[in-house]
Amino acid sequence: MSSEASGLHGVPLAIELVNTVDMLNDPPDFLTDVERLRRFLVHVGHEAAAKKLTPADLAATRTVRDRITYAMEARDPSTAVARLDRMAGTLEIRPRAVATTAGSWEIRYGPSPDKGPGFIGPSAVMGLLQLVVDGAWDRIGRCAGAPCCCVFVDRSKNRSRRYCCQLCADRVNQARARRRRGRSRRSPTDQPPGDERLVSRAGPRPTRYRAMKGPR
Ligand SMILES: [Zn+2]
Repeated sequence: MSSEASGLHGVPLAIELVNTVDMLNDPPDFLTDVERLRRFLVHVGHEAAAKKLTPADLAATRTVRDRITYAMEARDPSTAVARLDRMAGTLEIRPRAVATTAGSWEIRYGPSPDKGPGFIGPSAVMGLLQLVVDGAWDRIGRCAGAPCCCVFVDRSKNRSRRYCCQLCADRVNQARARRRRGRSRRSPTDQPPGDERLVSRAGPRPTRYRAMKGPR
């Protein structure tokens, strides 16, 4: 099976790329060298692109990430479309029909992943534009588990999602429980300031980071 069919595309790929800047990591930016970019590509299921990496791809992918991050910070669809359109003007977004593993066809945009990471920008831009067309731009959220500010798309029925992953939800709940236990044992003035943030930093890493770090 080619990574064209099995790897991430569109909005899920955009989210993984933006979240390579993760305040729970040390350093927060994961994409600091070509080897880490290779690991990111394997993490999102694009081994073929990982094999074609060149040193120039690092800066190009970081630029794509900055522009996608800027677009995803837009609070309203009109601003998002303006930012995505501007970005699309810098990319080669040629539509291609590719066979899926289910035997049907899907439209992909830009170069094939077999040629390197140049597919990321076109794929992410077109996925995010489709999110606007679907009336779902307001489903983009940012994790409420400070200091984490990773992005996600809230697919829940009542739009109640607050955290980027279960680990962040657990981390915040555990910090709250520790604070409650601490308060019941001590007077409030004994509590160090900013306790939740300190506990947060010492907490477990999100799964996406571990997946990129580990051998694959
Ligand atoms: Zn988070």
